[in-house]
Amino acid sequence: MKTVNIAIDGPGGAGKSSISRTVANELGFIHADTGALYRAIGLYAVRNDCLEAEKIEQEITRIHVELKFIGGVQRVLLCGEDVTDYIRSPEVTMAASKVSAVPAVRALLLDLQKKIAAENNVIMDGRDIGAVVLPDADLKIYLTASSEERASRRYLELREKPDCPTYE
Ligand code: C5P
Repeated sequence: MKTVNIAIDGPGGAGKSSISRTVANELGFIHADTGALYRAIGLYAVRNDCLEAEKIEQEITRIHVELKFIGGVQRVLLCGEDVTDYIRSPEVTMAASKVSAVPAVRALLLDLQKKIAAENNVIMDGRDIGAVVLPDADLKIYLTASSEERASRRYLELREKPDCPTYE
């Protein structure tokens, strides 16, 4: 059966995740937050001291990431462990950004994301989803907002956390 795929691309803080979650609930689709996959690999790199590109490339065959949807809510598994609650720290955020630049990491996650889209009606959001991961999506949205709005959204999201950056 052909699945329905919606791709949402755009810069951080524009509201991709919030809109994806709401629409996925309305439609009964799953919402795949692909940033969580990169974050899980960032966590692996922090835990195993392999943040450098060459080191993470050597580890790549040992890294297994998976998305599970429980009652429509996404959980991220890293080598079988549910790490959903450990991937939002500033340290992992930095690590995710770093590992996301490594081609072997992108290749690993490209296959996984395509598989999720082939098997589920999905709204998938993240960088390069419309352009690279799901070029033939049934609907592609590029969502953006003013810098002030984006900064404000991120600030409100992070302000309760330790190490919250300032709005400026
Ligand atoms: O969106 P989020 O902040 O959770 O993404 C974490 C990291 O993963 C970011 O550094 C982002 O650049 C990277 N990422 C990516 N491609 C995606 C989703 C996220 O490179 N499709």
